Amino acid sequence: MPERIYFDHSATTPLDPRVAFAMQSANLEAWGNPSSLHSEGRQARALVDRARSQVAALLGATPSEIVFTASGTEADNLALRGVFRTDDGRVSGHMITSSIEHPAIIETCRFLEQSGVQVTYLPVDEHALLDPDDLVRAFRSDTRLVSIMAANNVVGTLQPIAELAHITKERGVLFHTDAVQSAGKVPLDVNRVPVDMVSMSAHKLHGPKGVGALYVRNGVRLQPLVFGGGQEHGLRSATENVAGIVGLGTAAQVAAADMADEAVRLVQLRQRILDGLREVLPQTYLLGHPFKRLPGHLCLGFAGQEGESIRLLLSLDETGVAISSGSACSAHKASEPSYVLLAMGSDPIRARGTLRVTLGRFNTQEEVDRFLQILPQAVNSLRPVASYAGFTR
Ligand code: PLP
Repeated sequence: MPERIYFDHSATTPLDPRVAFAMQSANLEAWGNPSSLHSEGRQARALVDRARSQVAALLGATPSEIVFTASGTEADNLALRGVFRTDDGRVSGHMITSSIEHPAIIETCRFLEQSGVQVTYLPVDEHALLDPDDLVRAFRSDTRLVSIMAANNVVGTLQPIAELAHITKERGVLFHTDAVQSAGKVPLDVNRVPVDMVSMSAHKLHGPKGVGALYVRNGVRLQPLVFGGGQEHGLRSATENVAGIVGLGTAAQVAAADMADEAVRLVQLRQRILDGLREVLPQTYLLGHPFKRLPGHLCLGFAGQEGESIRLLLSLDETGVAISSGSACSAHKASEPSYVLLAMGSDPIRARGTLRVTLGRFNTQEEVDRFLQILPQAVNSLRPVASYAGFTR
């Protein structure tokens, strides 16, 4: 039986064997508590320190600017709530974000709104791109934070983070980016881009689940969400998840070393899929930006067959191909239109009917070619396309 094809790397990635090996050694040999003064503790501390340097190196940061968290979601929460929470528990002011952020940001904004913060949600164009002029217009005298994702999880579009961060810095406002989808895939150097905070998550870059990090520029003051023993510079109390942190560090190091070559390879594979599908299925269209997108990311629709995307996904799964519809986070709301696609101006039928095909480190051209045999058969076995004449996208 042919091997299964995993094309859902925006949901999560398989563990790189180098990461698994480093984690296993940490679990077996460095099980001490990093806060302990004896040699078992110091051994664990040394591994956490090394991982901190590895994650910092991915961003060009200094190790003291990295705070380990339990997920990308927690890093996002710490960035937003940590800015707005004051010592006396009161929360006020204004923040700016986009209408297509991951729920880790959107739901945190809703929570902040209930607590008294005012939030502006910037619109995007039909490719999911923000207009920097919209950001310029949104500032108020009480704006304290701008948070814009580096890459969108549903459609893969990359935002002009450097430009947005510069605009924000000129106004003396803090800038955070959720780089959970782009970290280790698209370069981000904090020495060139004036970001104040960056969220990332290990399981999106062939590392383990349940560990993330927040880069916090030296001098930026945040309030913790979790209180206790004062680990992670007082910003994230709890005994460190040493093996998980080692996994994130190793994943960051491997990603940094391979990033440029891997991006070229993934763009080629992505283009091969798109060209191959357009040849046999002319009703194929691409959502998101045509080229300002994550290297291995495709968000596809089939004109006239949008209502069938869940059936298509399940039939592909039976044939041995794992892909997703929209975002994994909305899988339990699969029949609802994606708010990201609605914000891009898609009609609700299209916004319900996309397939997300996302490639990663271990995917091969042989898998892409096999997928190009399987997918058209699966699409053609669905209800016939009523008409896609005049379809332009
Ligand atoms: N932000 C973005 C853009 C994401 O895609 C995800 C996960 O899909 C998250 C945040 C949440 O990360 P985690 O799964 O580590 O909580």
